[in-house]
Amino acid sequence: MSLPIYLIGARGCGKTTIGQVLARMLNYTFCDTDHYLQQAAQRSVAEIVASEGWESFRARETEALRAVTTPAAVIATGGGMVLAEVNRRFMRERGHVIWLSAPAEALANRLQQQPETAQRPTLTGQPIAEEMDEILRLRAPLYQQAAHYQVDAMQPPEQVAEQIIRSLALARA
Ligand code: ADP
Ligand code: MG
Repeated sequence: MSLPIYLIGARGCGKTTIGQVLARMLNYTFCDTDHYLQQAAQRSVAEIVASEGWESFRARETEALRAVTTPAAVIATGGGMVLAEVNRRFMRERGHVIWLSAPAEALANRLQQQPETAQRPTLTGQPIAEEMDEILRLRAPLYQQAAHYQVDAMQPPEQVAEQIIRSLALARA
């Protein structure tokens, strides 16, 4: 049985981009926990957070993780998925966990170029570069703890995907 592959890392590290490339290379399905939970809730992340708060969003995120977990799937997770120990343990036990790591400055630059960034509230209201620095400082130990492998996300997407396939000793479709 092909275990699911969970991609973890901060916003902008390329979970969606690399996940789609990787799924195509392996002939796996691709899904994104943020997309899943927005469809399930019929609301955007920003709307859920505004009306229910972050705690409720995090609970929905845990449900989404369980709902999308199937064999032969590449699963892009929300940046905060690793905050809950229950999520870290679930991913490690159920599949392969890959941390796409990149410096805070590069992540902030990528996000600033995305129009949809405006739709997602920042956690602190700080400028995005400062917030990303702070988020990585707090979350890097959690990404590290959750991941079976850490991959350099600053390479082109195809190379990142190839490296994941090599790390896991999987065959390309
Ligand atoms: P995430 O899903 O982790 O938030 P995305 O896949 O949405 O990240 O990528 C965020 C932005 O960075 C997008 O504009 C995407 O095109 C760009 N990007 C993602 N991965 C790479 C990469 N390896 N090299 C260059 N740009 C990338
Ligand atoms: Mg994404």
